[in-house]
Amino acid sequence: MSEARKKLTIVYSMVFGLFLLVFTGMACFILVWGTYAERTEEIEILANEIENEQLDLIVQQYKKKNLTTPEVAIEDDYDISGQVFYYILGPEKQVIKVDPPVPVLRAPVYEEIMKWSPGKNTKVATVTLPTDEMATLVLTAHKVYRGESLLATIYVGRDVTAYARSLVRSIVTLSGSAFLFLILAAVIGYFLAGKVTIPMEESIKRKKQFIADASHELRTPLSVLLTSIEAIEMDKDNFLSPFSLQIMSDAKDEFFRLKRLVNDLLTLARADTGDVKLKKEAFSLNLLSEQVIHSLKTTAEQKKIRVRFQMNESIELNADPERIYQLLYILIDNGLKYSLPKSEIVIHLERVKNGKNSYVKIVVEDTGPGIPAKFHEKIFQRFFRIDESRSRAIEGSGLGLSIAQWIVHAHQGEISVHSEPSKGSQFIVLIPSP
Ligand code: ADP
Repeated sequence: MSEARKKLTIVYSMVFGLFLLVFTGMACFILVWGTYAERTEEIEILANEIENEQLDLIVQQYKKKNLTTPEVAIEDDYDISGQVFYYILGPEKQVIKVDPPVPVLRAPVYEEIMKWSPGKNTKVATVTLPTDEMATLVLTAHKVYRGESLLATIYVGRDVTAYARSLVRSIVTLSGSAFLFLILAAVIGYFLAGKVTIPMEESIKRKKQFIADASHELRTPLSVLLTSIEAIEMDKDNFLSPFSLQIMSDAKDEFFRLKRLVNDLLTLARADTGDVKLKKEAFSLNLLSEQVIHSLKTTAEQKKIRVRFQMNESIELNADPERIYQLLYILIDNGLKYSLPKSEIVIHLERVKNGKNSYVKIVVEDTGPGIPAKFHEKIFQRFFRIDESRSRAIEGSGLGLSIAQWIVHAHQGEISVHSEPSKGSQFIVLIPSP
């Protein structure tokens, strides 16, 4: 699966998942609220009715200060099904009148009411039955006053266990369906993402192919151009003025710039289209580094920069020697380009171990202008150059470090920079090497 398709599928699924979550959450809330609100309203109305019907008894008991026990309390048969029940308790919680629930609920309901000192009027309570099953009740506490005096509290309840169970079943079914829909959405998202990304990927691929083809096609006319310039230069009989000769020389310099740019573009374009295959073989990294230093000797001498090579052991690397040469060339060439004359560049090679993994570590260190931390990642992006005015004076296209990074990644390695302005730069490469 391509990266773009993966990302789009995740985004589609997340958006749909969020929508499902909100929808399921709201549906559950409405279900729960609807069920309990209706039952609570019922028992609140009932509590008012009971107050009206039993007021005489309540007043009478209050005046008598009659402390009745549950056994002798007057029983009612308001609801013979036992689902709805009530307890009228005096100010000291002495039982005045009871319409009890079904026998199995009696003890737990009585206990629940006795330990309840109602702040809020209604509540949903879960009680444990003697059979160890759970029962769900809605309860309301209705206080009966005369003036300031509390005459009694009417506790009305309803056994809603059956409702609660079907509510739990509905919520589980709803959540399960939401989860199934989420999987379905991810599958549909995957196909939809494919429909969007396939043409997009093809267009990107065509663009990359175009850059690769164009850079490749440019190489032939460029070579012809160089041959022509050199032919004019070598023609002993030509009578070019010093001015024309200067133009020829400048044209040659520009030609080399263009050639490098075309080569760099071609390398990156081929890397993008996956046309570059690494040709790995075992070689001496020490020797290869010396060859790179040797090929940059003239540039180093011109700027009087000392290039020092540090190594304690002979390192054999299994990698693509041509690409590693290119990598070292880019890093050392940058060091030479950006450092001040008469400074020093150190190339350090060593084997390192990190747990079970072994690496070859290459460090190219200079004492140049350094790189501010905010650019440490950006310098590896294509065409990025720090401070255009500073870089413009120095030849470059901003492609070197992108190529270096590609080479290192193609070898499953890592490249990083340690640098601070005016304290020089250290480019560190780690290449896995068993
Ligand atoms: P180029 O050198 O062609 O501009 P690179 O991709 O090699 O492109 O480097 C990107 C930018 O990173 C350079 O333009 C330069 O600003 C900065 N840079 C690279 N190497 C060094 C270095 N050794 N010291 C200071 N700045 C550097």
